Amino acid sequence: MITLDPARPRAWAVAIRERHILAVGDAPDMEAVTGPGTRTLDMAGATVVPGFNDAHCHLLGLVQGLLSVDVSAAGSIPEIQGLLRGRSADVPPGQWIVATGYDDFQLKEGRHPHRRDLDQAAPSHPVRLLHRTGHAWALNSAALERLDIRIDTEEPPGGLMERELDTGEPSGVLFGMADFLRERLPPLGEAELREGVQRASDAFLAVGITSIQDTSQASGPEQWHLFKDLKREGHFAPQLTAIVGFPALDLLAQEAHTPATLEADAPCLWGVKIVLEEATGRLNPSPEELDFQVSRAHALGIPVAIHAVEQEAVEAAASALERVLHADPRSLRHRIEHCAECPPPLQQRLARLRVTVVTQPPFIYYRGDKYLSQVLPEVLPYLYPTGSLLRAGLRVAGSSDAPVVPFNPLTGIYAAVTRRTEGGGVVALGEAVTPEQALALYTTGAAHAAGEEERKGSISPGKLADLTVLSADPTAVPPDEIRDIRVTMTILGGKVTFS
Ligand SMILES: [Zn+2]
Repeated sequence: MITLDPARPRAWAVAIRERHILAVGDAPDMEAVTGPGTRTLDMAGATVVPGFNDAHCHLLGLVQGLLSVDVSAAGSIPEIQGLLRGRSADVPPGQWIVATGYDDFQLKEGRHPHRRDLDQAAPSHPVRLLHRTGHAWALNSAALERLDIRIDTEEPPGGLMERELDTGEPSGVLFGMADFLRERLPPLGEAELREGVQRASDAFLAVGITSIQDTSQASGPEQWHLFKDLKREGHFAPQLTAIVGFPALDLLAQEAHTPATLEADAPCLWGVKIVLEEATGRLNPSPEELDFQVSRAHALGIPVAIHAVEQEAVEAAASALERVLHADPRSLRHRIEHCAECPPPLQQRLARLRVTVVTQPPFIYYRGDKYLSQVLPEVLPYLYPTGSLLRAGLRVAGSSDAPVVPFNPLTGIYAAVTRRTEGGGVVALGEAVTPEQALALYTTGAAHAAGEEERKGSISPGKLADLTVLSADPTAVPPDEIRDIRVTMTILGGKVTFS
């Protein structure tokens, strides 16, 4: 058993009473706490670690993905048509069919599917296909009609609608029109949503995730109430912590958000998300607006989670936090999400601010080959710099950003240790961490990032009995084999929820 508790890093047995850990030690230590009603579970030498905590993901986005048809493996338009035909048999006519992951470069035809291609497969359903980049859509005729997209529809700024050469009618292929579509699309139906959430819940438990932190800027009171309903109705089993968009700051000010005062299984509200991104050559929000948002949250004692990927964005986030903390040096648990480009001087600034960095080790695996071919050579050595952030004394939490990439924490732990990409390349080997440090990203680090270290993150008496059982010890196998380790059992709040 790897406890992640410095007081007793390794142990052989754990005693659980109801939802909590009662004692940790060797088998003889357990005699004092067992009685006639005690049930014993023999792990047969398997490796037990604290339940994994994904510190940054998007539950509702993930659910959308689970409910859609995955066409990412399709090599031709007829293959996509076949997948759509299959789904249309299960969906009542008139109901949306959503498919994701097509790639025109990967299709034999070398082009986007047009509405007529999609009409052939599912003439009586509105169909929408999302490109793997998320920036292009292909719609069939029923979908165009449903969304009232016609020959005289004007493109929004930055959007482009492909047209048929002979008729001038929309071909169904849309570029850069995500917001335009979002405003017109219906929300998921109640039953469909709950089915998707249940599937997401099972999928998290199957890879040993017992806690997630939903960090969606679009979240506000509506999503928060939905999360509470989903938990109360039992559709979502893992512990859920929500970080909501800055406009929902008042919600945080109203709702008590100290984990200790919560009901056992209620979701927890923690912090506001601010997305800081370059748009048309400058950062949005502006430095003034960012200062305003950070200082408002800070004044209310609410942590901010600033999405900052490129170096300029991370620098701007650091500057805003420096100004706010200079004026009001209270220590709050502010976080920077992603922090992809962060050379040593900037790491030092972040260390002085005592922020938590929420990183995504699986990006190294799933996107590393792209980084190796596209990222500037002077930036590459400090890309997602987990090792040097830890050496600089920063707290670092691990996460997947799902549905952006798959969320199995063992893939993230493998990538954090080996810095290996899916294609076998290596990204910034100097940033590799030990298997113990990689486990800490998804346990103690993630718990700290949401102020939950009193109840989660290690196998320690008094904490929640959230445990993950692994087929092998990630600290003992050769690093290349970490990727093959399986989760054999997940215990959530003292109950076996997956095995
Ligand atoms: Zn995200």
